[in-house]
Amino acid sequence: MMKRIAVLTSGGDAPGMNAAIRSVVRCGLERGWEVFGVNHGYSGLVSGNFRNMGARDVGGIIQQGGTILGSARCPEFQTEDGRRKALRELNQEGIEALVVIGGNGSQTGANALNSMGFPVVGVASTIDNDLVGSQITLGVDTALNIALEAIDRLKVTASSHQRAFLVEVMGRNCGYLALMAGIAGGAEAVVIPEIDTPPEALADEIQLSYERGKAHAIIVVAEGSHYNAAGLAAYFKEHNEELGFGLRVTTLGHVQRGGMPGAYDRLLGTRLAARAVDEIAKGNTGVLCGVLLGDIGTTPYAEVVGKTKAIDPALFELARVLSY
Ligand code: ADP
Repeated sequence: MMKRIAVLTSGGDAPGMNAAIRSVVRCGLERGWEVFGVNHGYSGLVSGNFRNMGARDVGGIIQQGGTILGSARCPEFQTEDGRRKALRELNQEGIEALVVIGGNGSQTGANALNSMGFPVVGVASTIDNDLVGSQITLGVDTALNIALEAIDRLKVTASSHQRAFLVEVMGRNCGYLALMAGIAGGAEAVVIPEIDTPPEALADEIQLSYERGKAHAIIVVAEGSHYNAAGLAAYFKEHNEELGFGLRVTTLGHVQRGGMPGAYDRLLGTRLAARAVDEIAKGNTGVLCGVLLGDIGTTPYAEVVGKTKAIDPALFELARVLSY
């Protein structure tokens, strides 16, 4: 019997989401199923905002950043009432399973829906890389490359003027993006939420870089750190911290999200979503599809939700050693 499935993107958009949508649609069609897109994440689920998707509807999108389905944050879905509304809309449309492409919050919502008896499979997608069940999540690689391009450029101008730059990158409460951008960008220091960096100690590090004869200092700061980039700059000013260099602040913000997905994220989105369709076909729902030991694997939602992936402190230490 023909199956009907739906796909939605939720939470923060991530480069590669479109590759995943395309893959769900075409892999579903290949099985003879009907595939519906849900517009604007859980908001569209609650209001029954579905669209039937054919192979042509997902043509020419694999190279596009963002998500053609739109994403949204939907507080209503966090209530039992909201999820019941969503369930009713899904049942009315005759949809039998749902693929949720999104991050921590989205997968928590997916688990809640799955617990109410509706089959859901997740695709691990967030530039924050904080999701348990995927060593690297969809969008991280592209966001990292965008941050790196910015850091490389800032380094050029910083060197010309003997400046220190506090470069703030996204990642919510997770320092992964900042740490990796710091290592790959050759930063003089990295500030992340997971490890306490007193501002005066950071000022000493910047001053030391100056004394070592460096032409610049790049400090990559995760947005969720105790002091963000603007906070650190204000602290330095208030306490008249001697840095050697002149100081500038650059916040990359949403620039990191909008980019064209690179090869890695196009392939990852495609493969994760194809796996999600396979799991639905097998009846193995209530799981998250992610990268496990370099391959695509699944993790039950019970082991995913309510947790945050930790960063490796050895990498923080490596960033320090390499900054010399
Ligand atoms: P991300 O998926 O990128 O982490 P959010 O944390 O903003 O993004 O979550 C996206 C959406 O997922 C929320 O707007 C909400 O609709 C849903 N959601 C988040 N947490 C829960 C929860 N505990 N229960 C049900 N739904 C949730």
